[in-house]
Amino acid sequence: MRIGVLALQGDFAEHIEVLRKLGVEAVEVRKPGDLAGVDGLIIPGGESTTIGRLLSLSGLRPEVTGRALEGMPIWGTCAGMILLSREADRLLEPPLGLIDIKIERNAFGRQVDSFEVDLEVPKLGGRPVRAVFIRAPVIREVGPAVEVLARLPDGTPVAVEQGKFLGTAFHPELTDDTRFHEYFLSLVKN
Ligand code: GLN
Repeated sequence: MRIGVLALQGDFAEHIEVLRKLGVEAVEVRKPGDLAGVDGLIIPGGESTTIGRLLSLSGLRPEVTGRALEGMPIWGTCAGMILLSREADRLLEPPLGLIDIKIERNAFGRQVDSFEVDLEVPKLGGRPVRAVFIRAPVIREVGPAVEVLARLPDGTPVAVEQGKFLGTAFHPELTDDTRFHEYFLSLVKN
């Protein structure tokens, strides 16, 4: 199994490190053609405006969309989830529209720019997941085809899945807990 990590901007190196720790072949995806032979793609955190712009400028966007429609699993963390959404505010380019969610960017407010919280994620079982939020987006609307995997105590969804597409508003790649990566790998295997 080979997993691509979109390496245009953001914390792609951290994802690659986790994947290698799990014994999975991980490759940086920067230009058209890099997706060949890749079974699943991770879009990292960073700046969604920048990553979205570079996705178009690099010529990768049609390839990512095409592979997604053929069934290649994609997981977006934070900015990556923004790019997978149906609608998000103040982007330079429309998001990819692969997960039926509406996003408000940077919506946790200045006082809580970043925070950590223990999340119950029933699908991952066992102990709660320590979730790191950094200038995170808020999911304001969730379509009927979307499964919510985790919510904050106030009910705000922060991890979503629709078919082979996974989105987390937080950063599992910044903790030692590899369960979200393993869960994504299970989507790729099936
Ligand atoms: N605030 C960033 C954005 O809106 C996302 C931050 C992140 O990925 N940690 O694109």
